[in-house]
Amino acid sequence: MRYKIIDKQYRFLSVFDSETGAYVRTGILDEHGRDTGIDPFMASFPHLIDVGVMGHCIHGKTGLCAKAGVGCYQSGALVERPNMTAEDFRWIAQQCQGRCNQLALGGRGDPDQHEQFEELLQISREHHLVPNFTTSGYGLTEEAAALCKRYCGAVAVSWYRSDYTLRAPPAPGGRSYHQHSLRPGQKLHHRGHRPPEAGRFPGGH
Ligand code: SF4
Repeated sequence: MRYKIIDKQYRFLSVFDSETGAYVRTGILDEHGRDTGIDPFMASFPHLIDVGVMGHCIHGKTGLCAKAGVGCYQSGALVERPNMTAEDFRWIAQQCQGRCNQLALGGRGDPDQHEQFEELLQISREHHLVPNFTTSGYGLTEEAAALCKRYCGAVAVSWYRSDYTLRAPPAPGGRSYHQHSLRPGQKLHHRGHRPPEAGRFPGGH
């Protein structure tokens, strides 16, 4: 589905295709609706919003991430908060409909571990918002992968030193995939990555 967002406050419009992810935005429009070629400085509402649906993380608690050498900036091993309810998520989605294109699901843990994972994805699509997320992949089942294929725009499985990441093709659910590799001189874009030679984090006081 393609739809248009008209930003009256900052005088530009954008078009988004929720199937392909194609996104086109005009410059600032003049009083005749002609494109001035000037980039709008900002929008009156974000076109992509991060929603922290997870409050706790099973993989943090069981120590899987620590075992893989991944540090967690969310303190997934320690903090226990409730996940966002589907009702609260719907309330957010209702406010975003027609003003935003995509929701990046996140928080403390993998969104595929949310008790109402399918419902969250359904709610997103009901409000014409494409759900996306990043996961460790530790708990990603065939069923969850099929839901991702049905509802999501993009799902990233981070490198947690699991051999399934290297065996990605064909991805569960038959989705196309991209595998990112490092070349000399490139930086590792991985949240919390810490090379083994860096040793342990210093203790606090
Ligand atoms: S890095 Fe992610 S999956 Fe691992 S403990 Fe933290 S929140 Fe959980």
